[in-house]
Amino acid sequence: LSDRLGSVFDRLTKQGALSEDDVKTALREVRVALLEADVSLPVARDFIKAVQEKATGQAVTKSITPGQQVVKIVHDELKHVLSGDEDPGKLKIDNPPAPILMVGLQGGGKTTTTAKIAKRLKEREGKRVLMASLDVNRPAAMEQLQILGNQIGVDTLPIVKGEDPVAIAKRAKTQASLGGYDVYMLDTAGRLSIDEELMAQVEAVRDVANPRETLLVVDGLTGQDAVHTAENFDERIGITGVVLTRMDGDGRGGAALSMRAVTGKPIRFVGLGEKMDALETFEPDRIAGRILGMGDIVALVEKAQQTLEVEQAERMMKRFQKGQFNMNDLKMQLEQMMKMGGMEGMLAMMPGAQKMQKQMGEAGIDDRMLRQQVALINSMTKKERANPQILQASRKKRIAAGAGMEVSDLNKLLKMQRQMSDMMKKMGKMGKGGMLKQAMK
Ligand code: GDP
Ligand code: MG
Repeated sequence: LSDRLGSVFDRLTKQGALSEDDVKTALREVRVALLEADVSLPVARDFIKAVQEKATGQAVTKSITPGQQVVKIVHDELKHVLSGDEDPGKLKIDNPPAPILMVGLQGGGKTTTTAKIAKRLKEREGKRVLMASLDVNRPAAMEQLQILGNQIGVDTLPIVKGEDPVAIAKRAKTQASLGGYDVYMLDTAGRLSIDEELMAQVEAVRDVANPRETLLVVDGLTGQDAVHTAENFDERIGITGVVLTRMDGDGRGGAALSMRAVTGKPIRFVGLGEKMDALETFEPDRIAGRILGMGDIVALVEKAQQTLEVEQAERMMKRFQKGQFNMNDLKMQLEQMMKMGGMEGMLAMMPGAQKMQKQMGEAGIDDRMLRQQVALINSMTKKERANPQILQASRKKRIAAGAGMEVSDLNKLLKMQRQMSDMMKKMGKMGKGGMLKQAMK
C-alpha cells in the first residue's frame, strides 16, 4: 500500500508544479489508504474534502517539491484532526478521591490498562491510587486485577464474593475516602458486544461513582467495530477519552481517526504491549504517519531538512567564528546553492546565511552564473583557492582561460569572495551566542 502511494508521490515529485488533477490523483490514493487503515467511509470522505481544499489553495508553494507538499498537507491535516486541545495524558483527578471509570468490551484491555494507568499516576504524579474490579461475570477477573496491583505496588479493593457491581463501586468510594486515596479506578466487566444489560450496568455504576474521567478502552486492531463501540458508549455513558490498545500489533490505527471524528473525544493513551510500562500518551504525529503508512516518508522529509540545516549551519559557523572564507568555502556554497535549486531553495534552507545570500542575490547571481563561477574556482590551483589574494595578472589569465571565461568575470568572483570574507569576519566577531547560534535554534 505505501508502495502504491509512494509511486504516486514519486511521479508528482518529478513534475514541476502541482496541478489540481495531481492533487486529485494523489488524494484518491490517500482515500484508499485511509479506508485500508480502517477509517470509516464518511470520515475518510470528509477528511479528503478538507485536504483537497487546503492542497489546492497551497498549490503554488515553491519551497518543497509537489510530492512532499501533498504528503505534508495530508499528514498535517491528519494530525490536526487527531489532536485534542489539551494534553491527552493529563487526567482530571483533582478533588480527591477522584473516580475514574474504565469501560469497554471484553478483552479490549480494560483491566490491563487500569493497572497501567494506576502505575503511571503513582510514579509520575505521586498519586495514591485504589483499584477495584467490578467484573463479577468472569471468573478470576478480580484476582487478575489484584495480581497486577501487587505487581505494581498499587492497592486493590478487597474482594467480597457475591457483591454486585454497584455495591462494589459504593464500597470503593467509601474505602477511597476513608483511606485517603487521591484516585480510585473502577474496572468494569465487558461483554463480547454491546448489549442492553451491559449498558444498564455501566450506567448504574456511573451514577453511583459520578466519575471525573470515563475512559473507553478499545482494541486498536478491531477497526470499524471500535468506532461503533465508541459511538455507543459515548451516547449512552458519556466518555471523556479513549485508550487505544494493541497498537504494538500491526493495525494501522485508522480507528483513532474515526473515533475522534465520530465522538469528538480525545484519544488519551496508546497501549503498546502486555507489560505494565507499555502505555504511552497519545501522539497524533505518530498515528498520522501510521494511518497513511508512510510516516517514514514524512519523517524523512522533515529529517532531511533538519539535518541539512544543522550540519550546514554548524560547518559555516565554525568558519565564521574564525573569520575565514576562501575560494573553497565559496565553491562549497555555490555548489550547495545549485543542488538546492538556486537562490530560493538555499535561502529557505540555511539559517544564518540569509545575509550572505542576499548579497549574492544583489550581485545578480543566477544558476548559470553559479556554474560559471564554480568552473572558475575549479580552474584554480589548491594554493590559489586557499589564498586568493596571491592572484596576479598572469595567474588570472590562466584561470579565466581554463574556465573559458574573461578575466573580468574572475575579477567579479574575487570581489564577491573578498566581500564575503569581510562579512564573515564581522559576523565571526559576534562569536558564540551571537546571531548565528540564534539562527540555528
Ligand atoms: P479486559 O477484558 O478488557 O479487561 O482485557 P484485559 O485487560 O484482560 O486484556 C486482555 C488481553 O489483552 C490480556 O492478555 C492483555 O495482556 C492483553 N493486552 C492488553 N493491552 C494490550 C496491549 O496494548 N498490547 C498487547 N499486545 N496486548 C494487550
Ligand atoms: Mg477485565
